[in-house]
Amino acid sequence: MRKKIVAGNWKMNNGIEETEKLIHAVTNSIASLNLENVRVIVAPSFVSLTTAIESVKNSHVEVAAQNMHQAKNGAFTGEISAEMLVSIGVKTVILGHSERRQYFGENDELIARKIDAALANNLEVIFCFGELLEERKLDNHLLEVGSQLKNTLFHLKPEDFKNIILAYEPVWAIGTGETATPEQAQEMHAFVRNVIAKKFGKEIADSVSILYGGSVKPSNAEEIFSKEDVDGGLIGGASLVAVDFVAIIEAI
Ligand code: PEP
Repeated sequence: MRKKIVAGNWKMNNGIEETEKLIHAVTNSIASLNLENVRVIVAPSFVSLTTAIESVKNSHVEVAAQNMHQAKNGAFTGEISAEMLVSIGVKTVILGHSERRQYFGENDELIARKIDAALANNLEVIFCFGELLEERKLDNHLLEVGSQLKNTLFHLKPEDFKNIILAYEPVWAIGTGETATPEQAQEMHAFVRNVIAKKFGKEIADSVSILYGGSVKPSNAEEIFSKEDVDGGLIGGASLVAVDFVAIIEAI
């Protein structure tokens, strides 16, 4: 059975103190919930990772990094390698987020190299992809997402998928308050699962979790999560507010 996952991407928010506070608020609130088949992940900034890892001990919450460099080490000022993440106890990393693509020039080729480096270090990857508003308006969203999946994942081995979580994030819905309708999300998630099935087989496609991300909030989470191929959410803004993030976890 596919795992349900609610992951919070904190982006460039929260120093060490706020990290501790937010994590404790979340862990205390979810302690009494039955989350047997549900994973809860938070992705703080690099400087707060160690504090976060300490704060989630003995709780149901896991910690992910938001990015990493593709090289093993070397003259890459300001960057962090997979090995460094592993050395502090990180097990999961978000790669390919649209803000990395938009503001830091990351493209499919680079993201594929990052995925390889993460997997080579036994890191689990939350791989983000999604179309721009123009692409959706032109009805090219399936084509675009299909191409992103091909460029970044098709060189992998089927067994790599045990360490891959997919996150469909239509760029027009991220941080905009505009959410894909549950039907739009379901259409894309079913398409993605079909692309993976054709390339890697039905068993892999049926076992990979596909998250939806883009302005998920307590008021729309349940409806989106109720769709057959939506296995959870990658949450930005609402994951910074403990009661909202907990309400989204409850919705799943
Ligand atoms: C995100 O950044 O991954 C995201 C989905 O953001 P938001 O929920 O704020 O749209």
